[in-house]
Amino acid sequence: GKNSYQLFSHEMHKSLMDRLKIEADLREAIRLGDQFVLYYQPQIDSENDHIVGYEALLRWNHPTRGLLAPIDFLAIAESSGLIIPIGEWALYEACSKAKQIHIADANFQRMAVNLSALQFNHANILDHVKSALTETGLPPNLLELEITESAIISNVDEAIALLFKLKELGVKLAIDDFGTGYSSLNYLKSFPIDTLKIDKSFIDEIVNNQKDAAIARTIVQLALNLELSTIAEGVEYIEQHDLLKAMGCTNLQGYLYSKPLPPEMV
Ligand code: C2E
Ligand code: CA
Ligand code: CA
Ligand code: CA
Repeated sequence: GKNSYQLFSHEMHKSLMDRLKIEADLREAIRLGDQFVLYYQPQIDSENDHIVGYEALLRWNHPTRGLLAPIDFLAIAESSGLIIPIGEWALYEACSKAKQIHIADANFQRMAVNLSALQFNHANILDHVKSALTETGLPPNLLELEITESAIISNVDEAIALLFKLKELGVKLAIDDFGTGYSSLNYLKSFPIDTLKIDKSFIDEIVNNQKDAAIARTIVQLALNLELSTIAEGVEYIEQHDLLKAMGCTNLQGYLYSKPLPPEMV
C-alpha cells in the first residue's frame, strides 16, 4: 500500500545516504592515510602446530564509528573503485610487516594478502606488487596473493597471462574460498597456483556433515595429486583440527589458534 511504499522509499534514501557518507569518509581516509590498519591472523602447520605465516586482513579505524571490518565498507570500496588505492597501501603494508617478521623469525614462510576481483583485473596490479616487493625488500616467495575464482573467471585468458607474470616475480598464488565459485578443474591444470584455500563453509560442519567432510577430503587429495598445498580457513574446534590434520591438509587457520591480531601483537 501507499504507506509501505513510503517506508521503503525512505529506507532506500537512508541507505543511499549511508553509502554516500561511507564513500566520502573512505576518500577522506585515503587522503589522510592513517585510518587503515592490517590485522594479521596466524596460519599454522598442521604437522606441529607452529605458526608459519599470516593472512593480512583489512580494518578501518573510522573516526566516529570505531574499528570497522570489511563487511562494513569493502563492497563500497569496490563499487567506487577506492579499493585500488586501499589495496595498493595494503600490499605495501603487508610486505613491510612480512619483512620485519622474516628478519626476526627463520620459520616464517608466508604473508597472505587478499586481492579483490577489481584489483586483480586492474591494469597496474603487476607494478603494485613489484614495487611493494622492491621497496620493502621482501623476498618474493614470502608473499602469497589470495585470489578468488570469480576474479579469474571474469576474463580467463588475461587472468592466465597475469598469473604467469606474477609467478615470474616469484610470489605464491592461492585460490581463496576454493569450491564456492565457478570452480573448474580445467584451470587447476593450466594456472600456476600454489595453494588451495578450502572455504570456511565446508569447514564449519566438517565433523558432523559427511558431505562437507567428503568435499574437504577430496579437495585435499586433489591438491596432493597436483602437488599444491592446502589451507583450511575458519577452524574453531579441536575436532576440526584433528580431522583436517588426518586428511593431510597442510595448513590451518581460524579462531582455534588465534583471531586476527593487531600489528603490535605480531
Ligand atoms: P576471507 O579472505 O575469506 O577472510 C577470512 C575471514 O574469516 C576474515 O574476516 C577472518 O577474520 C574470518 N575468520 C578467520 N578465522 C575465523 C574463524 O575461525 N571463525 C570465523 N567465524 N571467522 C573467521 P574479515 O577479516 O572480516 O574479512 C572478510 C573478508 O574481507 C575476507 O574474507 C576478504 O575477502 C576481505 N578482505 C579482508 N582484507 C582484505 C584486503 O586487504 N583486501 C581485499 N581486497 N579484501 C580483503
Ligand atoms: Ca582470504
Ligand atoms: Ca577465504
Ligand atoms: Ca571465506
